[in-house]
Amino acid sequence: MKFETVIGLEIHVQLKTKTKMFCRCLNAGGNEPPNTCVCPVCLGQPGSLPVINEKAVEFGAMVAHALGGKVTWESKFDRKQYFYPDLPKGYQISQFDLPIVTGGAVKVSVPVEGGKRREISVRIHRAHLEEDAAKLIHADDGNSSFVDFNRGGTPLIEIVTEPDMRSPAEAKAFLQELRLIMRTVGVSDADMEKGHLRCDANVSIREEGTTILNPKTEVKNINSFRSVERALDFEIKRQTKLALDGKPVVILTTRGWDDVRGITVEQRTKEDAADYRYFPEPDLPPLMLQNLAESLRSKIPELPEARRNRFQSEYGFSESDSRTFVDDEALADFAERVMTELQEWVSAKSEGGAHWNASRDTFAKLAAGWILTKLNGIMTERKIDIRILKIKPEDFAELLAMLHKKEVTGPNAYLILEEMAETGADPSIIMEEKNLGVDENTDELALIAAEIIVNNPKALEDWRSGKTNAAQFLVGQMMKATRGKAQPETARQLIEAELKKMR
Ligand code: ADP
Ligand code: ZN
Ligand code: MG
Repeated sequence: MKFETVIGLEIHVQLKTKTKMFCRCLNAGGNEPPNTCVCPVCLGQPGSLPVINEKAVEFGAMVAHALGGKVTWESKFDRKQYFYPDLPKGYQISQFDLPIVTGGAVKVSVPVEGGKRREISVRIHRAHLEEDAAKLIHADDGNSSFVDFNRGGTPLIEIVTEPDMRSPAEAKAFLQELRLIMRTVGVSDADMEKGHLRCDANVSIREEGTTILNPKTEVKNINSFRSVERALDFEIKRQTKLALDGKPVVILTTRGWDDVRGITVEQRTKEDAADYRYFPEPDLPPLMLQNLAESLRSKIPELPEARRNRFQSEYGFSESDSRTFVDDEALADFAERVMTELQEWVSAKSEGGAHWNASRDTFAKLAAGWILTKLNGIMTERKIDIRILKIKPEDFAELLAMLHKKEVTGPNAYLILEEMAETGADPSIIMEEKNLGVDENTDELALIAAEIIVNNPKALEDWRSGKTNAAQFLVGQMMKATRGKAQPETARQLIEAELKKMR
């Protein structure tokens, strides 16, 4: 029997509001000493009253727009009852039947074999606002636990997908796209390693070709993109083995992912909604959101998918370069400003946009190569983040223009770029000061070419006996001798001319 995997995700995203969901305590994100951002409301003291954080509601509505879903015009909060030491009230304020977001879908491009990608659409079932629980820290002795209430009461949006993913790779790609959307909209830093984005993965298997939904397992405690794939892989293998042994999963269970051991461990059979005794939160008014929803629509920035498409259509970047740029908003901004500068430069000297249209793709290739390979290499090597890079996009564009005009060779442009990263200086000034410009004096260069041939008799011999790469070797020597100041093309021509004289 062949099985197909069915995966649906529930993702908690920490909203980056200044204060908590229902009180004025700082939403400090782990930066403050334990239990210093607390008050009677978030400690669940009797008689304290919650007040809704307007910004969190606004963020919720923005998430609706960003995911292509609907803002519920009349939404409300509910109490979800359960007992645990991280929840002093004995209930969590969440949303039950009128979540702030319903519907929506996210297009995701999934890497498949052979370096190709395939596009899927993952539908969003709903997303609701709720408060986070406190953080439990278990002592190493195994006998005691600590509670840090700083996280208690901070705002979350829980996003629930439809069971639309068919492999761990699809789940991972979806999560990565979701992270990028949350960052772009500015509602969360969505850093999985820091717990801003926490994922529970629901997974079941079914016979290929059928459409039934079998009982699923919910895997909790997944803390990185790598564990999403590992945990799901493990769980699929486990369920497949059970099914083949004639003992398929028959009841809903919750299992925890143990990242160290690389296995999932049964935690409990799952509660259903009735166990939580949801009821409307009597201390909070309903949310009337029609006006807010409409006023926010125009405030949604360009989303990653749209930006990737525009990077291709407007600048002529390749699909894969567009993807690399847009994965990092600051890098994308840099690339975009470089291209705009280049366009201005080309248009200024050519009247109208005609010349730009003709040369755009050449510049796109040049810019993508120099940003993604050379500049990224320099940044990685020197541990410089693009956000603190000293190079201004207009200076970077100028360097590319100098390259394009053949005022500087590639190797010397690289030296200039290193200096720019170090000091933030202007490329033409560096070129002059360090004498790194192209040498136009071909008479002088011809003499150097002749000298190099004379000094390398073995290469000359090889060339005479028909070994053509001997010429290439001599060109390399010439580039070295001129410290990159000769254009490779010029060097090649001169070497060949001199060689012919010595045939
Ligand atoms: P529960 O009642 O356990 O909360 P829901 O129907 O609310 O279950 O779904 C919770 C999550 O589980 C959703 O992300 C949904 O897509 C996913 N899901 C539901 N049924 C299945 C299934 N049979 N296999 C895999 N995922 C599923
Ligand atoms: Zn508080
Ligand atoms: Mg549910």
